[in-house]
Amino acid sequence: MTYRAPVDDILFNLMAVAPGPSSPDIPTETCTDWRAILEQAAVLVEETIAPLNRPSDVAGSVFENGVVRTPPGWREAYATWAEAGWNGVSLPESHGGAGLPIAIGTATMEMLTSACMALSTLPVLTQCAVPALLAHAEPALADTYLAKLIDGSWTATMNLTEPQAGSDLGLLRTRAEPAGDGTYRLYGQKTFITFGEHDLAENIIHLVLARLPGAPAGTKGISFFVVPKFLVNADGRPGPRNDLRCAGIEHKLGIRASPTCTMIYGDDRGATGWLVGEPHRGLHYMFTMMNGARLATGLQGVAIAERAFQQALAYAGERRQGRAAGYSGAAPIIAHPDVRRMLGRMKGLTAANRAIAYFTAAAIDDARSADDDAVRRRGKRFADLLTPIFKAFSTENGVEVASIGIQVHGGMGYIEETGAAQHWRDARVPPIYEGTNGIQAIDLVTRKVLPDGGAGIQALIEECRGVLASVDTLPADFCGALKPVAAVASTALDDLGTATQWLTARRPAGDDQLYAASPYLRLAAIALGASLLTKGAVAAARAANGGTPPGMAAADPKARVGLAAVFADEFGVETPGLLRKIAAPVPTPELRFAALEVESA
Ligand SMILES: Cc1cc2nc3c(=O)[nH]c(=O)nc-3n(C[C@H](O)[C@H](O)[C@H](O)COP(=O)(O)OP(=O)(O)OC[C@H]3O[C@@H](n4cnc5c(N)ncnc54)[C@H](O)[C@@H]3O)c2cc1C
Repeated sequence: MTYRAPVDDILFNLMAVAPGPSSPDIPTETCTDWRAILEQAAVLVEETIAPLNRPSDVAGSVFENGVVRTPPGWREAYATWAEAGWNGVSLPESHGGAGLPIAIGTATMEMLTSACMALSTLPVLTQCAVPALLAHAEPALADTYLAKLIDGSWTATMNLTEPQAGSDLGLLRTRAEPAGDGTYRLYGQKTFITFGEHDLAENIIHLVLARLPGAPAGTKGISFFVVPKFLVNADGRPGPRNDLRCAGIEHKLGIRASPTCTMIYGDDRGATGWLVGEPHRGLHYMFTMMNGARLATGLQGVAIAERAFQQALAYAGERRQGRAAGYSGAAPIIAHPDVRRMLGRMKGLTAANRAIAYFTAAAIDDARSADDDAVRRRGKRFADLLTPIFKAFSTENGVEVASIGIQVHGGMGYIEETGAAQHWRDARVPPIYEGTNGIQAIDLVTRKVLPDGGAGIQALIEECRGVLASVDTLPADFCGALKPVAAVASTALDDLGTATQWLTARRPAGDDQLYAASPYLRLAAIALGASLLTKGAVAAARAANGGTPPGMAAADPKARVGLAAVFADEFGVETPGLLRKIAAPVPTPELRFAALEVESA
C-alpha cells in the first residue's frame, strides 16, 4: 500500500486549528507558499521514500566489523532529502536553513515519518541538535558544525542513556577529563544511541552527557560535550578518527533499519570532546534538544497513525465478506458498522493527534518569535504544558491506531507482507524513548501544573471554552449538529478543571499525585483534542458559508463535524471515569501493592 501525504488536512490544521485567538491572520500569500512547500515534500516522500519502508524493515541495518550498513536505497534517498534542503526547513537562515516556522518543519517531518519512520530518526536528531548548539555553545564551537548539520552532510546524535542510567540520568557515569588544551577526554559507554554509527553522512557529531572530575552526584553534576566521529581540520573538513566506536546494534521489535548503537568512548587515549557552555549545566542544555525531540517523537504517533489508517481504509474498501444492505454478493467490509466504528476510532485519534501537534508547534513558534508580548507569553506557557501532553497522548494513540489497523485486516494484519504489523511494531517505541510516557505524565504534573498552581492549565481550559462558545454563532444546522459535541467537550473541560484543583490542593506532590499523573495527562489530552476538533468543525462551517479561503481545501464541514462527533463519542466520554480515577480512586495505596501479590501469595 502506498502512502499519500495529507497535504490538505495538514494545511487546514495549520490555518484553522493551530493559531491562538490573538495570533495575526495568516496572509493568503503565506498559505500559498506553504502549500507549494508541502506539495514538493509530498512528491519526494511518496515517490522516493515511502516505497523503501517495507524492504528496509526486512533488510534492517547491518553491523559488520565496526561499521553499520543501512538498507539498499537509503543513501540515495537521504542524499535527495538533504540536498533539496529539507533538513533545514525550520532551522536558522544564518547557517543555511530556510528559517520557516517550526510548524512547517513539523509538517514536512510528519510526511517523512509516515513514509519511513526508521529513516526519519536520522534527520530528527540532527534538527534537534542545532537549537541546542545555537543556544548553549560558544559561537566558534557551534560554527564548526552548524552549517554541515543543517545541510545534512553531517548528522548528530543524542548520547544520554547508559546501561544503569535510563529514566534516571543522575546515575550516568561517563567521565570527561580536562586534557589541558581546552579539550576533554571522554571515557564511557552509551547504549541505545540512534544512528550512533551509519554510512549516510561524512561525519557524525555526538552530543554526549558526561561527568567532570569532582562533579556533584546526581543530575547537578552532568556536563554537555560535543564529540565528533572525525575531528574537524582547520579547513572545516573531517580529519583524523576520534577515539570512539560502535560496539554493536540492537535487534529490535520495530524501526529495524534505524541503527540503535552501543557506543564506546575512550578505549585508548580518550575521545576528544569540547565542553558546551558551563560545567554541570549539561542536563539543562540537553533539555533544549530533548524538547524538540519530544515534539518530533509525538509526531511519530501522528505519522504512524496516518499511515496505518490509510492502509486500513484501503483494505476495508477492497476486502469482501458478509452481507450488507445495498450490495449483491459479499460486501466490502467497510459496509459493516463495526468496521466503520474501528475506522472511526482510528481516524478520530489520528485527527486529534494532528490537531494537537500543530497547535503545539504553533505555540512553540509564538514563544520563539511572536511580535506581541502577550502572544509570546501564551506561546511559552502552552508550549511547556503541551509538549509532554502531546508526546505521551499521541504516541499512545499511534500504538492503538496501528493495533486497530491490524484488526481491520483480520488474519492478513498478522502477516508481515501486508505491512500493517510493521506499523504496530514501529509505533511501539515512541511511548518508550525521549522520556517514557510515564515520565512525561510526571513532568506534566510536577513541573508544569503544580508549580504555577494550575494557572497554565486553567488558561488552556479558558481558551478551549472560547472555542466551544463559538458553536452558538454558527447557522442553525451546523450549530445543532455540533451542540452535542460541544457538550461532551465542555464536560471534559469541567473534569480537567476539577482534576487540576484536586492535584494542586495537595502540594508538594506525593504518591497519590504520581499515581494520578498518567490518567491526568490523558484527561487533559482528551479535553484538548475534543476542543480542537470542534474548533476545526467551526472553522469549516464558517468557510462553507463565506467561500473557501486558501489553505482550507479540506474544510468539508460535514466531515469535520463528523470527526469531532466521533472523537467525542469514542474518547470524550472517558473523562468522568478518568476524573474518578484521579480524585476518588477505589484502591488505597496499600491495596495497589496488594493487588500485585495475588499470584505470588
Ligand atoms: C529504539 C530506541 C532508540 C533510543 N535512542 C536513544 C538515543 O538516541 N539516545 C539516548 O540517549 N537514548 C536512547 N534510547 C533510550 C531511551 O531514551 C530509554 O530507553 C528511555 O529513556 C527509558 O529508559 P530505560 O530503558 O532505562 O527504562 P527505565 O528507566 O528502566 O524505565 C523502566 C520503566 O520504569 C518506569 N520508571 C522509571 N523511573 C520512573 C519514575 N521515577 N517514576 C515512574 N516510573 C518510572 C518507566 O516509565 C518505564 O516504564 C533509545 C531507546 C530505544 C528503545
